[in-house]
Amino acid sequence: MSEWWMLIAAFWAALLFDCVKIFPARWRRVFIAGAWGRTPRLRKKIRALARARHARVAVSPPLPVAWQAFADDLPFSFSPEGICNVTVGSVGAAPPELRVARSWKWQDIRSVEKKGGRLWINDRDFCAVTGYADAAELWALSSKCARLGDDARAVFLENVLRGWFRPSHLRRALARVGARTVTLAIFASINAIIALSLSVYFLAGGPDVVGDAWAKYIVRMLPMIGLYAAVIHVAALVFAWLAHRKLAPGRGAQRMSILFGAAFLPPQVFRLRAQIAAATLPAQHPLVWLAAIGSAGAFRKRASLALRDLRWPLAPARNPDRQITERIAEWMRGRVMIEAGRLLVLRKITADELLAAPEADGAESRSYCPRCRDQFTKPDGYCSCGIKLMPLKKERRGLCGDGFCR
Ligand SMILES: [Zn+2]
Repeated sequence: MSEWWMLIAAFWAALLFDCVKIFPARWRRVFIAGAWGRTPRLRKKIRALARARHARVAVSPPLPVAWQAFADDLPFSFSPEGICNVTVGSVGAAPPELRVARSWKWQDIRSVEKKGGRLWINDRDFCAVTGYADAAELWALSSKCARLGDDARAVFLENVLRGWFRPSHLRRALARVGARTVTLAIFASINAIIALSLSVYFLAGGPDVVGDAWAKYIVRMLPMIGLYAAVIHVAALVFAWLAHRKLAPGRGAQRMSILFGAAFLPPQVFRLRAQIAAATLPAQHPLVWLAAIGSAGAFRKRASLALRDLRWPLAPARNPDRQITERIAEWMRGRVMIEAGRLLVLRKITADELLAAPEADGAESRSYCPRCRDQFTKPDGYCSCGIKLMPLKKERRGLCGDGFCR
């Protein structure tokens, strides 16, 4: 019996181990997961099942029908003048830590390299590697910007940014990935059910429960069940290969690395749909994800954080080239605000609603921090985050004085 325990524990541990992902330090990613079917009726459930977390550790559901995706705050800001590593419009309660603000004019960028999950520009640590740009893409972007004139560069950069804010494009991509991986999900689910049934049978002392005759019959059938499971395993791998080839035709190396592990570790087949979805869904801003498939509450919460980060940004710990960094970040904030505004219209929410001053939480409260929403008894001054306090709304008439109340 003990060898069954060990085998079963090792099998499921391999699956659960694969479900946990830890991202590099100094960067929090937004992890989005859900499950969906092919029919329009089931697709409606995307919204109910999808959830988003902004953290360094992601735990995905160990379900063969589940999909997952990773989205990121913008790891850098750019403008026609250059690029800096200041994050604007973060959807996290705690924005990514920035030790030193670095900014470069486009024509001064000589190299972009990837080192340990980070991008380095001109041999200086710059920002985290995200779905928006790896080293080669950032190098291509900077080389193109260095070649273009000022006006053409502004148009080009606005187009690049707009490409990260396309909810309808994301919805179409989700539907496409869902449809392409549905056969894979069915085969993987069959094997998951077989594995789960056998695990429960042996762990719960099945042979004693069903009696001698049935126990012998099941033992006789085990090789046949194993053969079925092996055939289904191969079928799932074939459909995974076909799905990835259709969704990402130019990425053969990525396809091989995803399928190689699953070929020799059967529990990993249960995660193939999630892995293919994460690898092939387009890089989109987390707010786009929430606008496209998030619940109203989740969208409001993250949109409010993003707007507050745009309106009342935190100063970096060290900022050697303060003026150029601030000019670049300001240009980016203006453009991101426009894109965020489009998403708010899509979800029928106004910025005024999200940024309105809160009701006082006590008779003594006089002011609040518009960024972290903490309340204070002093009438003015600064919050510990460095933002100037604003007067509190005293009555429902709306006396907020920040220009955002209706
Ligand atoms: Zn504050």
